[in-house]
Amino acid sequence: MAKEFKRSVCPYDCPDTCGLLVEVEEGKALRVKGDPEHPFTRGFLCPKMHHYEKTVHSPLRLTSPLLRTGPKGMGHFRPISWKEAIAYIATRWQKIIKQYGAEAILPYSYAGTMGLVQRNSGHPFFHRLGASRLDRTICAPAKDAGWKAVMGQTATPHPAEVKDSDLVILWGINAVATNIHFLPLVKEAQKKGARVWLIETYKTHTAAHADQVFLVRPGTDGALALGLMHLLVKENLINQEFLNKHVQGFDKFKEEILSSFTPTKASQLTGLSEQTIYAMARTFGRSRAPFIRLGAGLSRYGNGAMSTRLIVCLPALVGAYEKKGGGCFPGTFTAEAFPLQEFLHEDFLGKKTRLINMNQLGEALNNLADPPVQSLYVYHSNPAAVAPDQNQVLKSLGREDLFTIVHERFLTDTALYADLVLPATSSLEHPDLYRAYGSYCIQLAQAIIPPVGESKANWDVFSLLAEALGFAEPFFKQTSTEVISFLLSLPAPFRQGIDTDALMAGRPVEIPVSPIAKHTYRTPSGKIEILNPSENYPLPCYLPPYHGEFPLRLMTAPSLFALNSSFRERDELRQREKGMFLLMHPQDAAARALRDEDRVWAYNRLGEVKFTLRITPRVPPGVVVAEGIWWLAHCPGPRSVNALTSSRLTDQGRGSTFYDNTVEVRLA
Ligand code: SF4
Repeated sequence: MAKEFKRSVCPYDCPDTCGLLVEVEEGKALRVKGDPEHPFTRGFLCPKMHHYEKTVHSPLRLTSPLLRTGPKGMGHFRPISWKEAIAYIATRWQKIIKQYGAEAILPYSYAGTMGLVQRNSGHPFFHRLGASRLDRTICAPAKDAGWKAVMGQTATPHPAEVKDSDLVILWGINAVATNIHFLPLVKEAQKKGARVWLIETYKTHTAAHADQVFLVRPGTDGALALGLMHLLVKENLINQEFLNKHVQGFDKFKEEILSSFTPTKASQLTGLSEQTIYAMARTFGRSRAPFIRLGAGLSRYGNGAMSTRLIVCLPALVGAYEKKGGGCFPGTFTAEAFPLQEFLHEDFLGKKTRLINMNQLGEALNNLADPPVQSLYVYHSNPAAVAPDQNQVLKSLGREDLFTIVHERFLTDTALYADLVLPATSSLEHPDLYRAYGSYCIQLAQAIIPPVGESKANWDVFSLLAEALGFAEPFFKQTSTEVISFLLSLPAPFRQGIDTDALMAGRPVEIPVSPIAKHTYRTPSGKIEILNPSENYPLPCYLPPYHGEFPLRLMTAPSLFALNSSFRERDELRQREKGMFLLMHPQDAAARALRDEDRVWAYNRLGEVKFTLRITPRVPPGVVVAEGIWWLAHCPGPRSVNALTSSRLTDQGRGSTFYDNTVEVRLA
């Protein structure tokens, strides 16, 4: 068969959702490149996906179901058939259900694949089973909560609006690592004369794209927003007409910030000088259309929702939300593109079962609550590496009486603890529907190569399990393709006006956002709600981050060469990263008599993790940074970074607090 390029989509948890062109020959992916026709990603890929074919055809791919033959965590397995595997799960689960009830079974998944069908395949199945439900809040629900508190369901601008801004603020986003396709748009604004600021906790690779970098103490972004708003009011840089017409509660808020949040206070909290805060406020207030690209990082502190809320208020004071090129862009909300509820089938739940927060997996499995979790089914996720409080998670995965099934492409840290490992397809081997969260693009991807080995897609495995457990609903007998057709057949006003033929042909398609008018604020009052009476704090205010007992604040930041724990199967990407480093300021290193390249332990009450030390002025004093999540097999010590992160939750949204931890460091 001749070589040909076929269209696909990057399935990983990244706002860009790149369009791919995959060269295929005789059922193998030979190479992958960006699709130049994609309106947002425009033909280039990040380094992670550049050789996706090496992931797809990696010699480490799992190719048959595996049954554990040795102690948990040791990775001793023997191959078995799919028939045996499905029958084994059904028998074990029937026993568990008989003894403890179905709530003793817990699914665990997040966003290993972002395709709507494969990502969500387990929902209808586990609802029908009556299993415990997982509160899927590991990413940035606090950011959503903060946005919604002020803006409700208001649509966010088109990301390309940034080109018309004269002041672009990248706030808490390392775009080079997590939103690289936004940067060419920023560049266009810069060429037209816009200034670009980066507000961060350390100098990330994105700093090279900014005209000015402002480093704030971790968790004090809300204090900076308040200090700036105080000065905008004091220096009469606000847009009173806009505030009168479109903002609820500004007068009360104004009194509050004038009396209680001075630039001196903002300076003391953030570490920025008062002079800098004055200069920032004046530039912001005098800009025609300031545009904030808000990242998810700052919402992973205990005060994440409140910090987001304060930042979202900032453009309202100067009326930036009405200006072309102005406002705040936290990402796009494209959920309305497909009525997913019809697929998730909450109606299959006989009664509402208990909800277990995924950030507290260790506690949930170790506290033998009524009923104790007796079986864990993990799919496209790797909680042994990515969940907080790794020591507690690993201890729980080691429970001999916990029947663990892991459906994966690779023998991850979690799969090593499984009783049964099921081989999963990659995104090139199954069909799916995608919607981006950094642009308004949607796309349909077909399977373009056959499954590697005996691997199966999530949907297909849940169909087999449904059959084995005697579920009579015809719903579970559909194929993935039929489910996709069903989703596409449901009316969705949000998709109105799209090029349906292009979508069906697998081309990237953009939802037209021009009809979303300025001044259309989808909140209960129809206004931007600085004052929101339904919130615990009706007016936004400063909430401090976690006050840890150790002297250094630990930032668990994204890596350029991995996405959470994905891509760690690739030797060449790990080599480019060079190792698992802890970044530390020279002053902090000198105080501890540490030298560059030393092996060090970072520790706190939860655990200790060995790193190679990198001394750099890129991080400010009092902060240490660990980029990326490593598989245990590649770590310098027995644990990876999440042995240091806590399962505490955010102020709103029950989200993770990965950035809100403290440590001390000593020589190993
Ligand atoms: S990880 Fe993000 S930037 Fe990289 S190819 Fe996928 S969607 Fe594009």
